[in-house]
Amino acid sequence: MIFVSILLLVLGVADASRKTQESFRWVMHSGMVLRNMDATMAGLRSAESAQRGYVLTRNSTFESTYEVELAQAHESLAKVRELTQDNPFQQDRIQAIGNLFDEWNSHSQKVISAARASDFERATDLIKSGSGLASMTELEVKANEFVGAERTLQSTRVELAQRRLHTVRSLALVGGPLIAIFSALVSVLIIYGIRRPISILDDAMTRFGAGDYSQRTHTRMGSREFARLAKGYNGMAESITRSASESQARKHELQAVHEELLTSARALSDRNDVIELLGAMSHRMQATRSDTELAEVISIFVPRVLPGLPGALYAFDQKRERLVAISRWGEVSFLVESFLQDECWALRRGQSHWISGVGKDVTCAHAPDRTVYHCEPLLAAGEVIGVLHLDGLLDEEQKFRMTMLTENIASAMVNRRLQDNLKEQTIRDPLTGLFNRRYMQEALSLEIARAARAKSPLCVVMCDVDHFKRFNDQKGHDAGDTVLKAVAATLEEKFRDGDIVCRYGGEEFTIIAPGTRQEDLLRRTEAVRLAIAAAEPELRGEPLGKITMSFGIAEWIPNMDRTGDALLAAADKALYEAKHAGRNRIVGHTA
Ligand code: GH3
Ligand code: MG
Ligand code: MG
Repeated sequence: MIFVSILLLVLGVADASRKTQESFRWVMHSGMVLRNMDATMAGLRSAESAQRGYVLTRNSTFESTYEVELAQAHESLAKVRELTQDNPFQQDRIQAIGNLFDEWNSHSQKVISAARASDFERATDLIKSGSGLASMTELEVKANEFVGAERTLQSTRVELAQRRLHTVRSLALVGGPLIAIFSALVSVLIIYGIRRPISILDDAMTRFGAGDYSQRTHTRMGSREFARLAKGYNGMAESITRSASESQARKHELQAVHEELLTSARALSDRNDVIELLGAMSHRMQATRSDTELAEVISIFVPRVLPGLPGALYAFDQKRERLVAISRWGEVSFLVESFLQDECWALRRGQSHWISGVGKDVTCAHAPDRTVYHCEPLLAAGEVIGVLHLDGLLDEEQKFRMTMLTENIASAMVNRRLQDNLKEQTIRDPLTGLFNRRYMQEALSLEIARAARAKSPLCVVMCDVDHFKRFNDQKGHDAGDTVLKAVAATLEEKFRDGDIVCRYGGEEFTIIAPGTRQEDLLRRTEAVRLAIAAAEPELRGEPLGKITMSFGIAEWIPNMDRTGDALLAAADKALYEAKHAGRNRIVGHTA
């Protein structure tokens, strides 16, 4: 509203001043018209004076003055005519003035012509005729009339100009404060229009600079320039944010790679330690002399290789055809002592078997109450060696360790078995499975030492199959072997667990009986003798007939040597006596 008023005002002032200017121009125009009319009349008067001067003085200087003044008057009149072209009333007057000018001029030319022709008398007469004067007088009247009209016009124009000037002034008077208010308003608007977007942008930029990368500004800024600036800021913020997040992501990647490196370096170092540990374990296992020692090494080293995983190692017992726990470590709530090969899924499948939760997989019969466990089979050349049972699940590293561990344990157990077998071969008699003579002698000296130390009794039995040569000759060597095996089995069965039954050689046997007095042993051996005499060994379903045995028994006494030779000799002597006494009997040695 105010803007429209201001606009109208400004337009009004402009128009008024233009009109005022116009008015003043017209006032000036009238002035010019008047000046030229004055010049016309002054020229005419001067020309007339010069004309008269020429005629009166006959001085030709006046003639030229006359010409100049006349030309001047002509020129001025022409200007007046030109200047008043827009005013028909003044044109009419100028027309009349022009006619009178021509009239005066033609008369005056006549006077000048006569004077030039030195006919001054005619020239004087012509002046005297008053025709020129009449024209001049009438010219003066018309000129005055013209000047009067022009003056009136001029004063009207002056008035109009003054009025218009007044209007302009009034308008200016009102418009000044209005424009001042308007410009103040415009300034406020401009300041607001600049300050607001600048403050929005400044705010956004400051926050952005402080690290808030989400700072964006809207683009409705009130001006195209600021909107463009806001868009530019948003674009810049966007690309900075993007590159910042990219660099952040790259930083994270680097960090992850670094951590991975650290982890793998740590894992490598851990692995080195583990390999060293496994090496140490392996050395010890190889150096063990018994299953007990092996079990001890395993129970010490497995928890070090697989910390936090309680468990047990089951070894396959060929005689019992069961897996028997030989070693355990950590706190295991319940573990069976032994189980059949078929009761373990790891052994059935020949590969790792684990349960990660209830109902996740089939549970081994030897671990029915377990919800989380791992069974690792120990195999060598496809043969079952044992099972490593762990009370928990394994991660990748633990799996790696366990693979090496089971390989080591399996190989140690195979070794152990081989060593045992080898040992067995050196101490056992292959035909009967009894201890051989060499072992008997070692065992005897060991038992003598123990008995001497403990002051406990110790006896030996020497026994021999009766007429075995004859039997052999009649029934053949195979039958003889069968009888020897049968006799060995009976001896093994009938003597006590602590008694050491050995094959001395041929059909002779020696039994070391620690902790037994001779008279007790005599009684016990009687049962053996009867059992042998009652048995009837068979070969391929053919009964081989009955056989008997003779027995000689002797008790160790401290004055005997500690190798056992004297004791054996004493027992042999008793046996000899038994043979002589008719065989199939027992004779106790008497000193
Ligand atoms: P005696 O009652 O006096 O002991 O008479 P014998 O025939 O048993 O006497 P002798 O000790 O002289 O005979 C031992 C025989 O045992 C000699 C050999 O033919 C036989 N013999 C020894 N060792 C074995 C063996 O490993 N297998 C078989 N089949 N026979 C054997
Ligand atoms: Mg013999
Ligand atoms: Mg014999």
